[in-house]
Amino acid sequence: MEKVLVLIKPDGMQKVIVGNVLNLFLVNDVKLIAMKLVKPSTRLAQNHYQDLKGKTFFKEIVEYLEGRFHDDAPVVAMVFEGRNIVKRCRDIAGATNPEEASPRSVRGKYGRITTKGLYENVVHVSSSNEEARREIALWFKKNELIPKESK
Ligand code: ADP
Repeated sequence: MEKVLVLIKPDGMQKVIVGNVLNLFLVNDVKLIAMKLVKPSTRLAQNHYQDLKGKTFFKEIVEYLEGRFHDDAPVVAMVFEGRNIVKRCRDIAGATNPEEASPRSVRGKYGRITTKGLYENVVHVSSSNEEARREIALWFKKNELIPKESK
């Protein structure tokens, strides 16, 4: 079954909207199979965003994930499972730019663009099945995912 990594980033934690955000993802046929609080190291944050190394905002998004802009708040890391789960969770998250995101999406509801131009968009969702596999292995040990028999 397809899996996806979803992170509620430190702005979600600081704004105390974790419950609301989680509820938006818990729709029909979406199973939560792993969840934990993580204070990511610089290395984990850099590895997570490895494909964006050349971007002008790379340093900022690494610091953002580390909680440096949000009182050192942690990240809520989760794995969801279901059919077509990457696309479904990306639709729930909304567009990367919170101003362009649907008002009903997580990013449309709760995201903002800072005065420095960073998109504080509350959640990360893997962009493909391949990225999901890579990211889940980065954030979770195999035994932290609920196995099929006990779901
Ligand atoms: P997504 O998170 O939607 O998959 P990306 O992987 O392209 O998008 O970007 C990672 C994160 O970097 C975004 O979630 C957002 O926080 C930030 N970001 C992306 N593009 C920009 C931009 N043009 N300006 C500022 N921040 C950005």
